[in-house]
Amino acid sequence: MNRNAIEPTLADPALRAHFIGGAFRAPAGEVPLPTTDPSNGRTLATFVEATVAEVDDAVGAARRAFDEVWSRTTVRERHVHMRRLAEALERRVERLAWIEALDVGKPIVASRATMRDLPYTLDYYAGVLLTLSGQTLSVGEHDVLNFTLREPLGVCALIVPWNYPLTLALLKIAPAIAAGNTVVLKPSEVTPLSAAELAQAVAEAGLPPGVVNVVYGGGRTGMRLVEHPQVAKVSFTGGNATGRAIYEAAARAIKRVTLELGGKTPLLVFDDADLERAVAVARTDNVRNTGQVCAACTRLIVHERVADAFVEALGSSLSSVRIGLPECEDTEMGPIVSARQQERVRSYEELAAGEGASVRRFADMSARRELAGGCFQAPVLFLDARNDMRIAREEIFGPAQTVLRFATEEEGVRLANDSPYGLAACVFTRDSGRGLRVAKALQAGTVCVNYGAKAVVDAPFGGYKQSGIGKERGVEAMLDDTQLKSVRVFHG
Ligand code: NAD
Repeated sequence: MNRNAIEPTLADPALRAHFIGGAFRAPAGEVPLPTTDPSNGRTLATFVEATVAEVDDAVGAARRAFDEVWSRTTVRERHVHMRRLAEALERRVERLAWIEALDVGKPIVASRATMRDLPYTLDYYAGVLLTLSGQTLSVGEHDVLNFTLREPLGVCALIVPWNYPLTLALLKIAPAIAAGNTVVLKPSEVTPLSAAELAQAVAEAGLPPGVVNVVYGGGRTGMRLVEHPQVAKVSFTGGNATGRAIYEAAARAIKRVTLELGGKTPLLVFDDADLERAVAVARTDNVRNTGQVCAACTRLIVHERVADAFVEALGSSLSSVRIGLPECEDTEMGPIVSARQQERVRSYEELAAGEGASVRRFADMSARRELAGGCFQAPVLFLDARNDMRIAREEIFGPAQTVLRFATEEEGVRLANDSPYGLAACVFTRDSGRGLRVAKALQAGTVCVNYGAKAVVDAPFGGYKQSGIGKERGVEAMLDDTQLKSVRVFHG
């Protein structure tokens, strides 16, 4: 497979059909949603915003599937269905890798690695669901048996962003359907193509109609799903402003939410740290997915005794980053996802200078004619910064990191925790006692010691503070998609 083979297939009108009740439906709406290739600005396909009736139909199909089929399945039946979906995805790994390379701008090698991981998300929850169970409780009364049942919620609306479109969609779909819920997925209007391919896989895997539905649209479609009276839970990953709007709307109807929001992850590097490893983590987080990773370490908080050496080593490492077209096998860093997002990243570079930080850019792409039409952006470090600057407090979501210095452990921890976000935190030290002490003191949902903040399917992930509510990944994600019933039986 290559760009020339895949690109023409993406404009096929069949691919932009909404997937409702197991059928592909040509869109009836009128609002076009073009999705572009950020490496050259070309339109790959034009989707259409779902109408109110289409959203209604998708939720209705999900509710019927829940009532009539899915909530009555045994765990064993759901296990088999999920395995089949994993296999249907396995058959599509290469095509999916190309789709997200073109739609998101991911380097093809990285995109392939991401897609190879996807079936495991389904396998993991196909396993976890076999453990779904309640408890028998001793309630202090004779002749009474009390037990609990874990029951599904009903229809879950799943709203995902553009940075890891299919990964994040599956992290919501798999635990939700494993627990016995049915779902309506709305991918980002910026990157809808892999969700369209997922719908094909769902159809091929033979899941009962209506268990997984996919509709396209932007914020308006997302809000219609959130406010739909038959939607029992909203699981959202995205920015904080959107998360707040969704939380408010869900509160009006007392709906369950899981919110996976932004981050400003600190990388706390002590003077006894393995600097080479710490620099490698910082480099990866600047470059991976062009810095568009919620948990990426974007505040590099370095002990003053090693700060100069750290910055020098990181700078020389960033100078060697291979920026290029997503289709090239040796590209490490592709374009930013859209011109709009690139504008946002650039605005922070201007802001940094205005705030009094110095801006160091690590690539000059002016002579690279093949990159001229795309949203390519050089890695950047903001030096001489303070933690009260906006570049240290706000999520930028691009290849830009702010460097801060500290003198004592107490000051380092205070700086790391002085943030509205608490998604993840990393600490590098050779002192294991300090590693554990600092891990406990850091206010973040995931803390990594001598290791980068990479989320895995098998461990719970979710933010403290304004980084979110609830957990994704791990057993906890599935439990968050259930409700607990207590049953008390008198048998005297
Ligand atoms: P976004 O909030 O703009 O959009 C996310 C999704 O919400 C899209 O599908 C969008 O169409 C939809 N949406 C927009 N407005 C809506 C509304 N009013 N009601 C309902 N839905 C609406 O975010 P983005 O720019 O696509 O993604 C970047 C953000 O995602 C970053 O802030 C990043 O930190 C966050 N993110 C978080 C995690 C995590 O696990 N915590 C993971 C990845 C990305």
